[in-house]
Amino acid sequence: MSIHDEVNRRKTFAIISHPDAGKTTLTERLLLFGNLIRSAGTVKAKKSGKFATSDWMEIEKQRGISVTSSVMNFPYDGYQVNILDTPGHEDFSEDTYRTLTAVDSVVMIIDATKGIEAQTKKLFKVCRMRGIPIFTFINKLDREGREPLDLLEEIEQVLDIETYPMNWPAGMGKGFLGVFDRHGKQFVQYHGNEDESVIPYSELDHSEHEELTSNLTYQAASDELSLLDEAGDQFSIDDVLSGKQTPVFFGSALAPFGVETFFDTFISMAPAPAPRKSTEGVIQPDNPDFSGFIFKIQANMNPAHRDRVAFLRVCSGKFERGLNVKLARTNKMIKLAQSQQFVASSRDSIEEAYAGDIIGIYDPNVYQIGDTLVEGKEHFEYDELPQFPPEQFKKVIATNVMKSKQFKKGIDQLVQEGAIQLYKDYRAESYILGAVGELQYEVFQYRMKNEYNVEVMFEPIGERIPRWLKSDQVDKSLFDERNMLVRDRENNYVVLFKNDFSLRWFKDKNPKIELIDLFEVN
Ligand code: GDP
Repeated sequence: MSIHDEVNRRKTFAIISHPDAGKTTLTERLLLFGNLIRSAGTVKAKKSGKFATSDWMEIEKQRGISVTSSVMNFPYDGYQVNILDTPGHEDFSEDTYRTLTAVDSVVMIIDATKGIEAQTKKLFKVCRMRGIPIFTFINKLDREGREPLDLLEEIEQVLDIETYPMNWPAGMGKGFLGVFDRHGKQFVQYHGNEDESVIPYSELDHSEHEELTSNLTYQAASDELSLLDEAGDQFSIDDVLSGKQTPVFFGSALAPFGVETFFDTFISMAPAPAPRKSTEGVIQPDNPDFSGFIFKIQANMNPAHRDRVAFLRVCSGKFERGLNVKLARTNKMIKLAQSQQFVASSRDSIEEAYAGDIIGIYDPNVYQIGDTLVEGKEHFEYDELPQFPPEQFKKVIATNVMKSKQFKKGIDQLVQEGAIQLYKDYRAESYILGAVGELQYEVFQYRMKNEYNVEVMFEPIGERIPRWLKSDQVDKSLFDERNMLVRDRENNYVVLFKNDFSLRWFKDKNPKIELIDLFEVN
């Protein structure tokens, strides 16, 4: 197969959701599809679900302290699928956001009983900022949830994106009858126990379906659907691919219901790897020369192995084991001898990979997050990875004052690598670390001890809202512990506001001072 064909059959995406919306359950289902394809005759395993569960537990086991954004890949229906897991829960960190720089589309899961929740909103914002196409799966239709129209309206209003329901549910919970599949022009009837059947629209008036079609729930859904057909937005694949419209699928990952139809439609519509901007212009994914960028570095948490793994998104060409590449930042040549690809069941060493694939490469302490690797004579760097708004801030102190030299060295290196963000109190020269999630502090503490032999302590200063000041508008007398004045790595002045209220109060009192939100999404 040509590089062009290999690239075009790749579908690389992340699943985002608020904890408990059903990401693990849905991912498990998708892995099941992968296994089914790889070894025929596992239909029984599919039914019982045992096959995938054990795979999944294996992944969890390998994750150990669970800092990985796991990558799972499998062939499906002629495509090569790469799923990047974005951890929720306490694993939330800048890695979670950066993972979104390495995908071509996103599946957003929403719990039908809850609607849009905090974490979904944050992750969505990052997708929007990057113009990533978003497909929505509204989960848990097997339970009494909120009205479908209500949910769509919430998505449109809160996330400011057009919705196009790909299917329309008739009932929910115990009274769930199935969905109108608008794309396939058929009614998918749910019989419980993983059993479903399909009735083409043209046959719905046949007498054998009268029991269904005379059901009031069915009729109500049918009326809603007519309304949507007349007054709702038109489906537009261009709008989907540019991130203006999200196709919405209703279903249940657990039942399961509607997962396979969802996945088939998603996979056929989701974009293949796109060209990417670099310092030498746009690089096409089927360019024969290999290139890629590092979006995550994982330190090995096992004290017996100090080595680290860098996660690289291949952006062009073909990767082969032993390939000689150049680290664009330093111009040094590196032979990529040890590399691994992450498959559902194990970390296999890989022989080749193409644009769209994610590979793990051994990091002998030379890589930084955002680094570009290019093959042979090429020389360019991909656009810098965006910075993400830190939400939590802590002062960091070395337990032993005698170790201040290692302490500084460790902080400098870990900050430079992109593990955490650094701010300095403008007077006391004390260090303040900013992070997206708690996990980053744990990893920082662990690595300071293991790699730099320094024990550190934290002094939380809580969730804060950072706003940057123009250099000619810095009046130090206006700030205190409540609204702290600090400097970022480039020595720019930043105010860490205690909360929304303090921020508004300050704005009212000092209307002339411009407060810049570096992370604002237009
Ligand atoms: P995650 O935190 O997003 O990974 O969510 P999980 O996949 O772990 O699911 C959270 C809980 O919701 C678990 O108890 C699941 O069994 C349950 N769940 C997931 N999908 C469904 C569904 O479609 N229907 C129902 N009733 N429960 C579900």
